[in-house]
This record gives sequence, structure tokens and C-alpha cells, in this order.
Amino acid sequence: MTIGVLAFRGEADALERWLPTAHYLSDRIGYRFRILPLTLEGMAREVAAGKLDFILTNTGNYVMLEHAHGISRLATLKARHLGAEFTQFGAVVFTRSDHPDLFALGDVAGHAMAAVSREAFGGFQMAWRELLDAGIDPFADLARVEFRGFPQDAIVHAVLAGEVDFGTVRSGTLERMAAAGLVDLERIRILDARAHDGFPFLHSTRLYPEWPFAKARATPERLAQRVAIALLELEADSEAARSAYAAGWTIPLDYGPVHELFRELQIGPYAHLGRPSLASVWREYKHWILFSLAMVLVLLGLLIAIARANRRISQSEALLARHKETLEARVAERTAELAEVNESLRHSEAALRAIHDITTDSEAGFGAKIDGLLREGCRFFGMEHAALGVARDGAIEITHRAHRDRGDFDAAVDAAVLRLARLFERHPELRQTANPVRLADGEDRPTGRALGTAYRRGDDATGFILFYDEGADPREFSDVDIDILQLMAQWLGGESERKAINRRAQEHESQLAHVSRVNTMGEIAAGIAHELNQPLTAILNYSNGCLRLLRREGRDRGELHDAITRLGADARRAAGIIRRLREFIRRENLKHERFFVRDCIDSAVELLRPRLDQYAIDVDINYATEVVRIDADRIQIEQVIVNLLLNAIEALRDGNGTSRRIAIDVREQGTGALCVAISDTGDALGDDVVAHLFDPFFTTKREGMGMGLSISRSIIESHGGTIEYFVNDAQLPTFRFNLPLS
Ligand code: ADP
Repeated sequence: MTIGVLAFRGEADALERWLPTAHYLSDRIGYRFRILPLTLEGMAREVAAGKLDFILTNTGNYVMLEHAHGISRLATLKARHLGAEFTQFGAVVFTRSDHPDLFALGDVAGHAMAAVSREAFGGFQMAWRELLDAGIDPFADLARVEFRGFPQDAIVHAVLAGEVDFGTVRSGTLERMAAAGLVDLERIRILDARAHDGFPFLHSTRLYPEWPFAKARATPERLAQRVAIALLELEADSEAARSAYAAGWTIPLDYGPVHELFRELQIGPYAHLGRPSLASVWREYKHWILFSLAMVLVLLGLLIAIARANRRISQSEALLARHKETLEARVAERTAELAEVNESLRHSEAALRAIHDITTDSEAGFGAKIDGLLREGCRFFGMEHAALGVARDGAIEITHRAHRDRGDFDAAVDAAVLRLARLFERHPELRQTANPVRLADGEDRPTGRALGTAYRRGDDATGFILFYDEGADPREFSDVDIDILQLMAQWLGGESERKAINRRAQEHESQLAHVSRVNTMGEIAAGIAHELNQPLTAILNYSNGCLRLLRREGRDRGELHDAITRLGADARRAAGIIRRLREFIRRENLKHERFFVRDCIDSAVELLRPRLDQYAIDVDINYATEVVRIDADRIQIEQVIVNLLLNAIEALRDGNGTSRRIAIDVREQGTGALCVAISDTGDALGDDVVAHLFDPFFTTKREGMGMGLSISRSIIESHGGTIEYFVNDAQLPTFRFNLPLS
């Protein structure tokens, strides 16, 4: 165990004074205690390094170490001096007894003082406190303070020698010097001498506890307790007590007054209370300063960041506000646009629907459709007049006219529309863009505006659809206008194409029908020749007979008359045969007329009579409906019946059946349709034949063309009817066609 001891009079003195105490403790406790003499600085260093277990030092130094390193007292020295025992001590302030000015501490201003050192607790600091209490700051109010160090006797001598006006020493020093004959107390005047019970020495200050015996912070409590007990039990006259100039140890006193002194003087642990040096502040508060600096920096950083963020926020707020404004403006703009678009969509939807209704109206004819279309266009485009034209071989002709309000086109409008049409023909780019066209009259004055476009017609001519207004409304035409216009043009183009195709198909069909009839003619020519032969032979016979009668005079004129009458009848019959034939093969365009079905059927049967007779075929005609008149092309309907009869004749001719019979049934079916069914007693048709029956060029005959049924079907369908094959209730092959009656 190491006891650090303050060796204020040198190492040897310290060892001599305290070794017996170390031995005593070693004996009592069982550990080896050793004494380590140290200076004030050495003591502070060793304590800080944790090298000491116990500390024996003066009162002032103890309080410093207690504060700095947490050492704590175990006992206070019971000092013995000049036969007296005491646990406290003080300081005495004195002057020469003959000093003229100094009688109390309050008188010392402007005088010179001697003391041990600024750091000496008893040798200066105790007096310093009392001086301050008396209103004297030794460093400001005195002439000077001389620090003369140890031993203190020198201070007493300096005062007595008049080198200084007054001095201060530890209590007991004057008495020791007087006892040693070094000084005469009569020559000394004590300033503000005090009296404390049981304290035997002269003193001018408060009393403070004597040296403590302390333990280091790390020294175990249990050991410290044992040391404290050992110290308290040290006998007053023991070796250890005596060499320590002590009467032993007492329980640790209160060192609070020492703290108070330091605090008041702002020294020692309380040095910072005075004017602190930068270094001391740095030493003392290094961590706090660094921490605070760091905090300040962090705060500054935060402040800067906040300021920046604030600036950015206010910038973005301004930006947002601007954006909001533009956004609102845009939304308003867009809403208005949308409303406009909506309105125009509604408008164009209505127009489209109207166009659709007009063009798909099955009741209306082509002319009515065009009229409706042009009127709708006028309404939609806001134009007064509309016209449909055609340019053929450089000549322009207006084929349809329409107007919105006024009853008629006048000549001026007609002229303008014709000029527009010419303009469109000369400048194809105008049609494509369908821009409004401004017309200029002879003096280059605009006379109106127009919207129009050309369209392709099926007949290689160019068609025009034009809308014209004499007013000069500055309205531009929108894409929707152009689309609608083009839609109309497309429909017109398609419609005229369809009409052209229909026309061509009809022409084609009538050519085909003609060819077919000529062909049929070939088939029936032999029969006709035979039939013609009959009346012609009769004519010949009758004319020969007439001649003979004429040669034989005196004959009855009545006989002659008869013969000539018969001759005429046969000639008429021959002429009838030839007429029917001519009628049948004559090529004519579709010609609707009202006629009796019966006439048509009779005529066909008559035409085929020679063949029917040739193959001994009976024809039964059953008119379930009495008088039926239909509205159709008579020759074509007759052609259908001839075709069906011819097929039946050929089937019976080629078949093996004994009965050769054709039945024609004519009746009104439901209301409004005529139904003609032709059956024969031949074999029913095979499925493979039925599947292709009406296909053009389908035939099972060596000399057949395969066009009869195909042509028949197109004739019936072009009249709005249908034709079909089926096996009737009597299991006979039957062809039946319907025709609408009105
Ligand atoms: P084609 O008489 O020149 O052959 P069609 O178009 O008139 O041409 O008839 C097509 C085919 O239908 C005939 O070849 C025949 O096979 C069949 N056909 C038409 N009518 C009858 C019928 N009444 N009985 C049997 N077969 C028929």
C-alpha cells in the first residue's frame, strides 16, 4: 500500500515524520504500507495516475484533490504543538507593535505585506479571505505583497525589521518563535485577533481542520475502514503519533469551510469563478466547448438547410401558384374546347344519323335520297344551296338541286354553281382540300363561298357535290365538315357505281337471255317447221282447190268462198306462229307491263306445242286463281315458263316412264304473291344435281348450255320473286316460282 505524503520540508523530513505511521498501519492491518514523499505537483500527478492508495497532505491540497480526483478523508490529524492538542488551525496577521497606522485588517490598504506564497493555505490564503472580508483586495489595494516562501520565520523577521508593514503566518508560529526566543511577542501587534474555545494560539482568521488522512477513489472501502479504525486507535504517545507531531487521529472533520474559502477567493477548484484564462476554460470545458461548437455547427447547418428549404418552398409555392393559374386557365380553355367539340360532335352525330337514315331508307328512291342528302348538307354546313353535278366530255350539267330555305334556285345561283363546278374541274386540289372557295365575279368581287368535292361515278364521268352560299360568312370549315362532305361523296360514288354495275348486269343478263332464247329457238325450230308445214300445206291445197274450182265453170260460188276463207284462216295461223317466234326471240330492254298470267302461260305452251305433240306429252293447266294480272316483263316471264317446260319435256323425252304428263299449277299464295308450279312425271333429281341446279353452266345434257335455270332465277329475282325446286306431294319433281303481285 502506498501512502503519498506532501513533503513540504523535503523528502527526508517527510519520511522521518510519517514512516512510523506506515509501520504502525502495516502492523495493524497486515499489508505493507510505504511512504512516497511528493511535491504538490508530484502529488497531483500520482493521484491522477491512480498510483496512490492513501494520501496524507495539507488541508488546502486535500480539498483540491478531493474535487479533482475524488479522494476522501478517513481521519483528521490531532496536532500537538507546544504541549497543546488541536484539530484545527488558522493564521495570524500581525504588524510591529509600534506601527503607527495599522490596528485592524481594515487599515492595511496601501501598505506592504509579506506572506509565504500565493498557494500557501495557512501562509496566505486564510489571511487573504479575511482581508477581502475587511474590504481589502491584497492584489489591488496594497502597496505590494511579498511572497517569501518557507520557513515562515523570515516573514516575522521582515515585519519586525520594517521591510514590510504587516505579514501573515500559520497560527502557532509566533508562539513557537517566542518560545525559542527568536521573537519578542511584545513587539508584535495582532490585527483583528480572534478567540476560539480551546484553541491556544494567536490568530486573526477563522479556523480550518488540520491535515486529513485520505484514501484514493479506487481504494477498497473495507481496507479504508480498517485504516481509519487503526488511525483513530493510534495512541497519543505512540511512536507514530510523536514523530508526526501529533496526538493521534480523530474522526474526519468538516472540510466545508475550506471549500468556502476557495470559493470566495475563487482559487483552487473554484478558480474558474474568477477571471478565467482561456486555457483554463479550455481545459475545464474542452468537451462541452467541442460539443457546443459541434451543436452550433449542426444548428447552423440546420438553419442554413431550413433557410434553403424555406427559399425553395417559397419558390415552389410561387411556381405552384403560377402553375395553378396556368392549369386553371388551361382547364377552362380545355373545358371550353371540349364543350365546343362535344357540341360539334353532337351536331355531327345528328348529321351522320340523318345521312345514315336518308341513305338506308328502303322506301325512298335514289332521287329522294339525294334530295335528302343535299338538304342535310345545307343544314349541317350552314349553306343555302346545294347541287349535284356531272362533268362529261368537258360539259358540266347540274343533275340535282336543293336549298335550305328558298323555294328555288335562281339563275344567278345556277350560274355560280356551274362556275364552281368548272373551278373544281380545273383545280383538282380544291376538291381534295375541300377548302371554302371564294368566287370572284368579273370585277374580282367575292360573290359567295362554297364547299364541295368531286367523286368518281361508275360511268367514268366525274360527279360533283357542291354547297354554295351567297353570303360571305367567314366561318372556316372544320375537319368534321370535310369528313362529312367526303362521306357524302363516298356514298354518292358508291351508289352511282352500284347503279352502273346493276345497269351493266342487266344489260348482260338481257344479252344472255337473248342468247338463251335464240338457243331455245334452235331446239324448237324443227317443231315449228313442222307446225308451219301444216297451215302452209293447207294453204297450198286450198289455193289449188280454188284454182280448180275456177277452171271448172259453173260451180257454186259458195264453195269457192269457203275454200278461200279457210285459206285465209290457215295463212293467219302460220303468221301467228311466226309472230310468237319473233316476239320470243326479239331482244328488248326490260319492259314492265300489266298482263294476264294465263296469256303468258298459254303462249309458252303454244310455242312448245310441236315438241309436246312430238313426244306425246299431255299438259294440264290448273288455274286455282281465276284472273291474275301481274306487273312484269312479259317476255322474260314467258321465257322462264318456256325454260321450265323445255326442261320437263327433255326429262320426259329421256326418261323411261310410260305416262308423260306436265302439270302447271297457278295460284295466289297468301296475299300478294303469284305462285306458278310446273311438275312432270319424270324422275326426281339426284342430290348432286339439286345442289348445283341454279349454277350457271351446270348441265347433265350432252347438248345442254346449263344456263336455263340460272337465267330463270335472275329473271325471277330481278322481279322481286324466288324460284325453287322440290318434290311435290305426288313425289313428282317440281319447279316453283313466286312473283309479287303489286
Ligand atoms: P340445260 O337444260 O341446258 O341443261 P338448265 O339450267 O335448264 O340447263 O338445267 C340444268 C340441269 O337441271 C339439267 O341439265 C338437268 O339435269 C336438270 N333439270 C332441270 N329441269 C329438270 C327436270 N324437270 N327434270 C329433270 N332434271 C331437270
